[in-house]
Amino acid sequence: MDIVVIGAVAGGATVSSQLRRFLPDANITVIGRDSRMGFATCGMPYVLGGLVDSMDSLVSVTPELFAEQKSIDVRLGFESIRIDRVDKQVLVRELGTGRTESLYYDKLVLSPGGTARKPEIPGSPSIPIFTLRHFDDMVNFEEYLKKERPQRGLVIGGGFIGVELAENFRHLGIRTELVEHNGHVMPIADPDMSVLLEEEMEKNGVVLHLGREVDTLDGDRIVLDDGTEIRADFIAAAVGLEPNTDLAEQAGLGIGPTGGIGTDRFMRTSDPDIYAIGDAAEGRDWFTGKPKRVPLAWAAHREAFIAASHIAGGKTEMDGLLGTSITKLFSLTAGMTGMAEKMLNEEKMPYETIVHESRSNAGYYPDNGKLRLKIHYDPDTRAILGAQAVGEKGADKRIDIIATAIRGRLTMDDLAALEIAYSPAYSSPKDPVNMAGYKSMERPGKQQE
Ligand SMILES: Cc1cc2nc3c(=O)[nH]c(=O)nc-3n(C[C@H](O)[C@H](O)[C@H](O)COP(=O)(O)OP(=O)(O)OC[C@H]3O[C@@H](n4cnc5c(N)ncnc54)[C@H](O)[C@@H]3O)c2cc1C
Repeated sequence: MDIVVIGAVAGGATVSSQLRRFLPDANITVIGRDSRMGFATCGMPYVLGGLVDSMDSLVSVTPELFAEQKSIDVRLGFESIRIDRVDKQVLVRELGTGRTESLYYDKLVLSPGGTARKPEIPGSPSIPIFTLRHFDDMVNFEEYLKKERPQRGLVIGGGFIGVELAENFRHLGIRTELVEHNGHVMPIADPDMSVLLEEEMEKNGVVLHLGREVDTLDGDRIVLDDGTEIRADFIAAAVGLEPNTDLAEQAGLGIGPTGGIGTDRFMRTSDPDIYAIGDAAEGRDWFTGKPKRVPLAWAAHREAFIAASHIAGGKTEMDGLLGTSITKLFSLTAGMTGMAEKMLNEEKMPYETIVHESRSNAGYYPDNGKLRLKIHYDPDTRAILGAQAVGEKGADKRIDIIATAIRGRLTMDDLAALEIAYSPAYSSPKDPVNMAGYKSMERPGKQQE
């Protein structure tokens, strides 16, 4: 069987490895536009901030290793420019030489990721505007930071990448301001949870401009829509991602309402011989079954397994996505899974909420931290609908427990009953997860009164 994979980073590298495991005799060719394959995109902000001291440590696989160990032909510096679904050919071009070649496929997997959006700001800037998506974006940005040693940076966008960049610029001693057009950073979270992150950012010297947009940019002078003026040596734009659907559109494949390539539960597109995975693909929401895109690494890796297994004859289906995510922000960790208030309100789903504030583990134990855990649940069935945790320690563990509980269709009563490992360094005899479950219960006997 001839299999061609487009994209050689998260989804592309994983799906080709899985395919080799399942299909020892298949001819597998991977086409990638970037200068590196399978690199750890998520580590790039920490390279810029100097926490990770070598960008090469983000690259653990190479085309040579894939050729030698897996007999997979990875061609970097190539891009796919057209899909011919009738003759089952992909036209690829070598970027350095312009040379083109057609590759035949029995099965084609698209994992082309997305393109970082660039804010359109009127004016004539004299300062560089960076985005961070590809390995070479990081190389250029790092070179600038090392060579120019800028003093003042502006981040546009207060989502995951924007807040991580702001933290890393502060590590470099850069005076950092952040503009977010929503009223809060991390706008997918509930506002009361985002406020904790905003306080932490301000405590660490990040100047926030919330509910504001950049109006004009002349020279190094940035004017916001309320007239505020900011001077910066550079801008880092983290204002979202456009899924790369051009190839799919040109080939006439179905594009879903979220703008991603439409897929079924086996990650097949509208052409059963073409699969789409990762940031470019559209999946489904765990609760509503409605189209949903989760441009995060877990989804890309899981979808890679589902597609590879289906090509090999397996029948494992892609379940709905919860959008479980986590980020570190100075001394805090913020995690979430499932539905947040905004989504519940949009879907008109009835819910009740428990907020439990406590220490992460025994308060007398030296290494403990503040933790705020918030859980939304269905008042009738008591099914857990979503959770968020922000804290100095232990937010990751609680979010992962609750993501597991949602997948196992546990209720708030089950949370109280979970037998969670306890010793003073890690938890309390009643873990915050147990406590949230207990707090949601009615007083025993109340219903009979
Ligand atoms: C700065 C940053 C931090 C992140 N941090 C996290 C995190 O902490 N946690 C998390 O879960 N996720 C994180 N993500 C998201 C995660 O990296 C992505 O979800 C994941 O990489 C998506 O995998 P993918 O295969 O769909 O796309 P990518 O990994 O982007 O790979 C797509 C590749 O396809 C190439 N390509 C596109 N079109 C073509 C074509 N026509 N021909 C050939 N090649 C093509 C692209 O150039 C690219 O190399 C982060 C992303 C960024 C940018």
